[in-house]
Amino acid sequence: MQPPTRIDHLGIAVNSIAEASCFYRDALGLTCGEGQVVPEQKVRVQFFQLGEVRIELLEPTAADSPIARFLAQRGPGLHHIAYHVDDLPATLAALKAAGVRLIDEKPRAGAHGMKIAFAHPKSTGGVLSEFCQEGP
Ligand code: ZN
Repeated sequence: MQPPTRIDHLGIAVNSIAEASCFYRDALGLTCGEGQVVPEQKVRVQFFQLGEVRIELLEPTAADSPIARFLAQRGPGLHHIAYHVDDLPATLAALKAAGVRLIDEKPRAGAHGMKIAFAHPKSTGGVLSEFCQEGP
């Protein structure tokens, strides 16, 4: 498979996007992209642009959101690293063949029109890993 081309974004779990924006937008001065609610994940996301990398803040919209569970267990902090790939289905097939434990064996819809899939932290050195590609 082709290795990932770059880090697309870093996902950071927060209790409040409004509060965390004081650092990323106001103190660091990063450009604030559009916010979006992803209902299937029960999460609100806010992207900040940093060169070709983005910071993705994730705030739960319900108590049973995966992000709410993460916050309850580990507190706010780094939630996942997202790698940009050119051929997501091929990447997933190659990872599976290499014995990597996949959470998503097929691409699914993510925020901002990206196709995404996650690999389990048990296979990736402890950090939830997302693989993403533009397109529906
Ligand atoms: Zn992400």
